[in-house]
Amino acid sequence: MKISTKQRRRAMMLALAAMPLAAALRPARSADSEPIAQPGDKTDAGFIERAFFMRRRALDSGDQGYGAVVVRDGIIVGQSPSHVVVKRDPTAHAEMEAIRDAARRLGSRDLSGCTLYSSSPACPMCEAAAYWAGIERMVFGRGASDGGSPRLCG
Ligand SMILES: [Zn+2]
Repeated sequence: MKISTKQRRRAMMLALAAMPLAAALRPARSADSEPIAQPGDKTDAGFIERAFFMRRRALDSGDQGYGAVVVRDGIIVGQSPSHVVVKRDPTAHAEMEAIRDAARRLGSRDLSGCTLYSSSPACPMCEAAAYWAGIERMVFGRGASDGGSPRLCG
């Protein structure tokens, strides 16, 4: 069977018209599902730098200036800026959001063996969340101060 130029053109137009629909039917990819770029410097200083990069992101989005990162075995498994203002959620501190991000990416609420890096010392809510997640160590601030193991009540 011979396909005419007109038919070929019509098929091409239909394919083009269907493209945006196909894109719309694809599951939405949020920034959360993007792989995390790993820093070259895999020391406390390198991970604190990423926490401060998240802090910059928070400020750029109009949120409060906090950022946090969760690391396991030298790999960033979760990270987030503060979302308190953007999500209108008083519990969306950077540390809470980074813990949520890590748990989602790892498919587990057990974050034992992880270290939480924050641009500022964790508040009692975030420290309790780190405790419940089984996080072993907290590190905070420009000087990468050792915050020790999270405790349930400060
Ligand atoms: Zn907090």
